[in-house]
Amino acid sequence: MASVVDTKLYDILGVPPGASENELKKAYRKLAKEYHPDKNPDAGDKFKEISFAYEVLSNPEKRELYDRYGEQGLREGSGGGGGMDDIFSHIFGGGLFGFMGNQSRSRNGRRRGEDMMHPLKVSLEDLYNGKTTKLQLSKNVLCSACNGQGGKSGAVQKCSACRGHGVRTMIRQLAPGMVQQVQSVCSDCNREGEVINKKDRCKKCEGKKVIKEVKILEVHVDKGMKHGQRITFAGEADQAPGVEPGDIVLLLQEKEHEVFQRDGNDLHMMYKIGLVEALCGFQFTFKHLDARQIVAKYPPGKVIEPGCVRVVRGEGMPQYRNPFEKGDLYIKFDVQFPENNWVSPDKLSELEDLLPSRPEVPNIIGYTEEVELQEFDSTRGSGGGQRREAYNDSFEEESSSHHGPGVQCAHQ
Ligand SMILES: [Zn+2]
Ligand SMILES: [Zn+2]
Repeated sequence: MASVVDTKLYDILGVPPGASENELKKAYRKLAKEYHPDKNPDAGDKFKEISFAYEVLSNPEKRELYDRYGEQGLREGSGGGGGMDDIFSHIFGGGLFGFMGNQSRSRNGRRRGEDMMHPLKVSLEDLYNGKTTKLQLSKNVLCSACNGQGGKSGAVQKCSACRGHGVRTMIRQLAPGMVQQVQSVCSDCNREGEVINKKDRCKKCEGKKVIKEVKILEVHVDKGMKHGQRITFAGEADQAPGVEPGDIVLLLQEKEHEVFQRDGNDLHMMYKIGLVEALCGFQFTFKHLDARQIVAKYPPGKVIEPGCVRVVRGEGMPQYRNPFEKGDLYIKFDVQFPENNWVSPDKLSELEDLLPSRPEVPNIIGYTEEVELQEFDSTRGSGGGQRREAYNDSFEEESSSHHGPGVQCAHQ
């Protein structure tokens, strides 16, 4: 048995999903007797539910649809024939599938079509300045020539072979007093439940009731909108007869920016300065998201430490729906120090005279050992070979009798 996605109909009949035809039949007959409105007028819609569950599960085709795709499989397979919707909503309600958002019911009880979701990539500039863009898409609309009827009024006839159900039900007598319902897709109307005489068929849509139309949507990306925000065009999704069209939903996808990173309404950027700027003040210009040239000044006498952050108030992103209020801009400074030997040693002493004086070297009494400070590249994996070697050396010195050369110590 393939995985069953929904067991509600089985639960109604009180049978397991793998139940055989016979088990289903037995369960149905027992429950139908018990809840028949003649016998049990207070049972409400229970009888309808039982009948519906049995109608689906006793039909191999419908049962397979239901097992594989649950309620949705039935809805799509049924073509939404009359009366089906009521029992659907009665059994499945809005709760079970309502969270999917695309199968919910409209206020007037009509079936609602699926929402169409499109990603919309936008730059940080677009989100800062706002933007109006046009989006072209192709969708089904009701045929205007026939008003979504498929033909002249009166041309559409309820299929007489299936009485509009799209399926034909036959009662087969298996034994005296024991009947079986057999359902098959109506071949006259091909499950549509209605037929249109060939000559009365709408020329424009060929009886399909809908035609493809290119639609251009004007999309307003407002200042301050965010990644993941949705722009909804209510009722703009595919149209179909008897169905309330779903929405077109655009999902904003913020593109990465070369200079700025966004954090809510704040912006962050990185700026490289040299040692002289870090110590002696500076000014620099950068282009903001609205193309303004901003000059940032930092006066002589104030110091920038490597990795520190300074803030420019009110130069962040505009607030959504309140664009005159803006977040802040945080600038993190990367201070570039000069290269080795950038100046001659005698000049260094001149520099030293200008810099804050060194701390006093404490007097050391007793034995000292001098070590060398080496260049260390932290990007080449920290704690790697060098440190472990050092540990091993000291370890071997202490207990040289146990380890021969080349044996790695497992302790850390
Ligand atoms: Zn038409
Ligand atoms: Zn038919």
